[in-house]
Amino acid sequence: MLLKERTKSVTHRLLESLNFRMNLPAEEKVNYENQVKGFAGEKQFDAYMNQSNQSGLVLNDLVLTYRNTVFQIDSLLITTDVVYLYEVKNYAGPYFYREESFFTESGYKILNPLRQIDRSATFLHNVLLSLGYQLPIQPLIVFINPEFNLYSLLPNKLFLFSNQLPKYLHTLSNQNFSTTNKQLELGKKLSELHNETYRPDKLPNYDFDQLKKGILCPVCFSASYRDTRQTYFCAVCAHKETITSAIERSILEFRLLFPDSPITTNRIYQWCGASYSKERIRLILKMTYRRHLSRQMTYYSEK
Ligand SMILES: [Zn+2]
Repeated sequence: MLLKERTKSVTHRLLESLNFRMNLPAEEKVNYENQVKGFAGEKQFDAYMNQSNQSGLVLNDLVLTYRNTVFQIDSLLITTDVVYLYEVKNYAGPYFYREESFFTESGYKILNPLRQIDRSATFLHNVLLSLGYQLPIQPLIVFINPEFNLYSLLPNKLFLFSNQLPKYLHTLSNQNFSTTNKQLELGKKLSELHNETYRPDKLPNYDFDQLKKGILCPVCFSASYRDTRQTYFCAVCAHKETITSAIERSILEFRLLFPDSPITTNRIYQWCGASYSKERIRLILKMTYRRHLSRQMTYYSEK
C-alpha cells in the first residue's frame, strides 16, 4: 500500500526552474542533470514496486531529521517484522568497486553508496526508536539501470541489480505481510516528520533581475504560449490549463526561488512576464493568500 508518493526535491525543482531561466554554471548544470537522472531512476523503481503489489506500507522520498542532521530516504517498505530501506542509484556504464571505494572507468572516485546507506540506516534506526519502534532495518542499494556494470571481486549482499529486481520483489510480495495498526501509525508518523520544504545550504546564486520572466510550461518548460480569455496553451507541447492555474503555479515557483521576498502584485506581474493584468494577478493573490497592508506596500503571505 502506497502511503507517500514521491515528489521532486526542492533542489530538483529549483534547478529545473533556473535551468530554463538562466545559464546555469557548469557545475550546477551537472547537478541538475544528476537530479533528473536520479529522479527518473527512482520513478522506475516505484513502477516496479507498484507492479509487484507489496502488502507492506510504501513511503517514497522522505527527508527526515535526527538531532539536527538531515538525511534522505529514497524508499521505505514497512512490514510487520522488518523495515526495508532502499537507496536507488541510476548509474550507467562500468564502475569498479575496490578497497571499499567506487571508481568510474576514468578513475574518479564517487561517494560510496554503502557508506551513504549505512548513515541513513543508522539515523532511521534512531528515529524509529525515538518513536517507540524497535524494528530491524534491512538496507539495500538498488542499481536500477540495466546499463550499469559493477566490477568487483567480492559480492555484496546489500547490492540489488536491475536484473535481480523482479525476482526479489516477487519473493517479497509472496511473504504477504499483514498491515497492523501499529505499522500504519508508524507510516503516518514518518510522513508527518517528512520535511517537504527542506532547502540544502549549497544552492546556486541568482537574483530576480537576472532571471528570464514569463510563465513556463510545466511539461516542456517552454515560455511560448497562446491563450484565450481563460485558457493557457503551451505553444510547443500543447499542454492546456486555466490561466488562473498557470499564474498560481508561477506564484509557487516564485516562492520557491525567493522564499524571503515579499509576494506583491507587482513582483508577480513581472515574474509572469507582464502578460496578464495586475488586476487579474491581484484577484488570484487575494483568493489564495492572506493580504497585509503596510504603509510601504501591500504584500501577501500564506493563509
Ligand atoms: Zn509545453
